[in-house]
Parts: sequence; C-alpha cells; structure tokens
Amino acid sequence: MTPDPTAPLLSVDDLVVQYHRPGAPPTRAVAGVSLQVRAGEVVGLVGESGCGKSTLARAVCGLTALAEGRITYDGTPVRPLRVRRRELALTGIQMVFQDPYGSLNPRRRVGSQIADGIRTAAGRGESAAELTTPEDLLTRVGLPASAAERYPQEFSGGQRQRIAIARALGARPRLLVGDEPISALDASAQLQVATLMRSLAVESGAGLLFISHDLSVVRLIADRIAVMYLGRIVETGPTAEVWADPRHPYTRALLAAVPKPDGAGVLPAELPGDVPDPADPPSGCRFHPRCPQAFDGCDREEPQLIAGGVACRLYAA
Ligand code: SF4
Repeated sequence: MTPDPTAPLLSVDDLVVQYHRPGAPPTRAVAGVSLQVRAGEVVGLVGESGCGKSTLARAVCGLTALAEGRITYDGTPVRPLRVRRRELALTGIQMVFQDPYGSLNPRRRVGSQIADGIRTAAGRGESAAELTTPEDLLTRVGLPASAAERYPQEFSGGQRQRIAIARALGARPRLLVGDEPISALDASAQLQVATLMRSLAVESGAGLLFISHDLSVVRLIADRIAVMYLGRIVETGPTAEVWADPRHPYTRALLAAVPKPDGAGVLPAELPGDVPDPADPPSGCRFHPRCPQAFDGCDREEPQLIAGGVACRLYAA
C-alpha cells in the first residue's frame, strides 16, 4: 500500500494509560487523549507537573503500555518495547530525556555513544551515503568535533543535552520527542537548546513533539500547542491563536503566569489549590474545583474537546 503523504506522522487516538497500585483502582494518567504531529511540524505539549505529559511521551515512544486507544507512527502501530523489539520502523522515533546527566553513560566517550544512534539508522537499512559521523553531528549541535573523544562529565548540562540531541539525530529520526528537555538546564541554555531542537527537526523534515511546562519557550518554537490538564487535553490550536486568544480558563491561567523573570510558567496565586490526584479526579470537568468561571453543572458534566479546540462548557453549542 502506498503511504498517504498528507497523513500525520504521529497519530494518537483516544489514548488511555493507566498505572496500577496494589489494592487501589487503576490511575488514569492519560485519560482519553488524541493528538497529531505532521512531518516538519513542531507541537508543544504544556501543562503543570503531574498532568500526564511525560506519560504520554513515554507511550508515544513505546515505553509504556496502552490501556485503551491507539498510537501510529508513519502507519505502524506503536506498541510497548517488549512487543516491538524487532520493529525497526519504530526506531525512527527518538526521545530526548529531561535529565542530561542520567541519559548519557559516564564511562563511555561521547563519540561512541553518538555512534549508537548512527548504528540504529544503519540497522534500519539506511544507505551508507545517508549516514553521518559523530563528529559531524557534534558540529551540527554546536559543539566541537573534538568533543567525540571526551566523556560526558566534562560538559555542562546544556552541552550534555546537545550531545543527547546529536545521539538522537544519528538515528535519523522522523519524529523527535523532547520530554521536558530543557527543564534541568539553566535559563541561558534553555532557549538555545529548544531553538536548536526546532531548527534541526524542521530542516530534516522531522516532526517534533516538545513537552514542557515552560510556555514562554514553547510559544517561541511550536507551530501548534496542546494544553493538558489532569490527563486530558483542554485546549489546542495554532500557537499564535492560542496565545492571542486563550479560551479555556486553565489556559488563561497558565498564560497569565508568563513571562516570569526566570522564564518559568508557574501558576498565578489567584488560581486556588493544587492539581488534584489523578487517582481520584474530580467529577464532571476535572478543572472545576479550581476554575474561576465554574457554573452550575460543571461538577457533573465532563466537557469534550469541540471542533474549535477547547474542552469547556462555556463554549458548548
Ligand atoms: Fe470551568 Fe466549567 Fe469550563 Fe470546566 S467546564 S473549565 S469548570 S467553566
């Protein structure tokens, strides 16, 4: 069958991911999410800690089991790693993790670790002419080629994240997933690493799913934005439109907190309470206990994401 060139590279449909704890009902960390990423597109997924962003990222990369729903990458179903061990097509999804200290092996030279990524692409059948070298990849991420001979601990956090990006690029991904890739970096490195990921993904025609709690950075690099709250997407749309006219009360609260002097998107004091426990989500609209615009019925009826890209009863037909 000929692939459809207009089809999304990544399609997440009605995804549910659950965690099980002994003696307790399952916790839905992701509770029915649909999302698409197209080739050459940057999608920013934002929300507070504990909203399910990282669980979604892990599911997209086949690192966690799906309870319900479906994920497809380039037409291939994404399944947990144990099942898909031999599905080479899925090595076209590469992830950049949050912790640049823990994601690199301190005992192996940088060049050797980047070569792992290149071997992944070779194993997928990429021709020798399409493959590159660790030195070339290091140059592309703004580090000297000589860094290949050194060890990760000789570099700063921002430089290590560049090395992790080089390793991911070596596998010639068509989809790059960044799971809070800038949150462990100092403020000066955050925007540099985020813009680097965007430019490398776009110039290679890859899609980028960029997950962050920092809206000020996501605003600058994402074509589209999806706002997640307690396992659900509550608003989505082109970044410029959502930024100019946020509609969901939670999106408005997030944007009201940006920019902060340190660039962090923390919630404003006027939004009461913490994110509820996903093991015991509120009835009706999950945001209702904190929503300044909640009205009669919000504690009973759960709003669905409508065609306009918002899940809030204020906009129901
Ligand atoms: Fe607020 Fe009601 Fe909209 Fe939920 S549905 S965000 S509680 S107004």
